[in-house]
Amino acid sequence: MSLSEKYEAVIGLEVHAQLLTESKMFCGCRNAYGAPPNTQMCPVCTGQPGTLPVINQFAVELGVRAALAIKAEIHHESVFSRKNYFYPDLPKGYQISQYERPFCTRGKILISLGDGSEKEIGITRIHFEEDAGKNLHKGDHTQVDLNRAGVPLIEIVSEPDMRTAEEAGQYLRTLRTLLRYANVTDGDMEKGNFRCDANISVRPRGQKEFGTKVELKNINSFRFVEKAVEYEIDRQIRAIEGGETIVQQTRGWNSAKNVSEVMREKEDAHDYRYFPEPDLAPLQISDKWIGEIKNELPELPDQKKSRFESSYGLSGYDAGVLTASRDLANYFEGVVDVCKDAKTSANWVMNELLGRLNAVGKDIVETPVSAMELANLISKVQSGAISGKIGKTVFEEMFETGKTAESIIEAQGLKQISDPSALEPVVRKVMEANPGQVAGYKAGKVKLLGFFVGQVMKETKGQANPGLVNDIVKKLLDS
Ligand code: ADP
Ligand code: ZN
Ligand code: MG
Repeated sequence: MSLSEKYEAVIGLEVHAQLLTESKMFCGCRNAYGAPPNTQMCPVCTGQPGTLPVINQFAVELGVRAALAIKAEIHHESVFSRKNYFYPDLPKGYQISQYERPFCTRGKILISLGDGSEKEIGITRIHFEEDAGKNLHKGDHTQVDLNRAGVPLIEIVSEPDMRTAEEAGQYLRTLRTLLRYANVTDGDMEKGNFRCDANISVRPRGQKEFGTKVELKNINSFRFVEKAVEYEIDRQIRAIEGGETIVQQTRGWNSAKNVSEVMREKEDAHDYRYFPEPDLAPLQISDKWIGEIKNELPELPDQKKSRFESSYGLSGYDAGVLTASRDLANYFEGVVDVCKDAKTSANWVMNELLGRLNAVGKDIVETPVSAMELANLISKVQSGAISGKIGKTVFEEMFETGKTAESIIEAQGLKQISDPSALEPVVRKVMEANPGQVAGYKAGKVKLLGFFVGQVMKETKGQANPGLVNDIVKKLLDS
């Protein structure tokens, strides 16, 4: 029995998503990335004596949107607590967070897996939290930047429902897509706006109780999630096989060495001395408000996917690909708007555009060919101004150079030849050059028609209108 048959992993993820607000969670400081250090802070977010926090209403609205997107329960009353610990980037000595009574519990999301199956992953809770500042380590000293202190976050805690690295990766992707659709977060992992801690344990298959978990911190890219989880599962299985007992730990993912390293023995909740934040009244969220937020919720991936299937007649697979991100879906709809043919647009976007974007590692927002320009190109193929085959070469050049279809077709003289008087001489020439085939055709080998059409296309470098060539060849051969 292989080790992966003998053991099963159990994984639960804790995700911090930064909310797309103008200001911080409890003060009026700007919530923006990239300002010079310590230019976005005030007595409230640095916890000066005598200051009072005020809850950012829009942050709460974004939290409610997130809760609606994962079909969770939203509580009419929830409570902020102080999570006490010392760290140089936390001048207050505590973070305001929700602990015993979060605003949201019991959600779920559906993930798709590589083998075509789907799996539901439970979400235990979502709570509000303020971010801490940032320590910048430089040589032998450390600098503190408090711009991020007090920035609004939601923490989304999953049930321990995942069993493989792939499931963990897909959960994270699906969650991010949902939250970006709902405009809750920009989900930018590089900027630390979407961060993930993975809790991982292993147990012998068939055992009911969970094993002791290890928490893996600092996973800051999708690429690393699956790698890190894979590594940690493997490490724990080897440790158990070697007779070790897994101890509850916090480990960090070292992406340079591709290993997880011990950070600390895990602290327990009681180490934080949580207690209700005395400066904030319980947070009230009314049904009326939830209803208003629901009404204004943007279209979510599932809804968009079924709309793409029903109103554009796309297959489930195509609709799934094209709604993978809102930017891609918007791009596709931009193309359809102009050229009016959804199936053709889907093919161009998926086969030509996405293929090339993937090859150069670019996102749809970085596409060198705008939706409008792609639509123009498609229209030229549809109207017969250029052939489909030439359309693809033109597209390649558009992608490389950013030039318009029009200018490339113009400059290279690629217009389709649809003038019978220009094509007839070419057909005659091909017939003269192939008397044997002409005789064959006249003797009943009608399949040779294709041969003649092919020759004419070759002679015209693919620029002849194939339908017209077909007609002319037939007419001349039959006469
Ligand atoms: P803690 O109190 O240590 O933070 P929680 O019960 O809050 O632990 O769970 C934190 C995360 O760890 C959740 O996502 C949960 O699903 C996951 N988790 C809990 N127990 C296990 C386990 N034995 N193995 C893997 N993940 C687990
Ligand atoms: Zn402030
Ligand atoms: Mg926890």
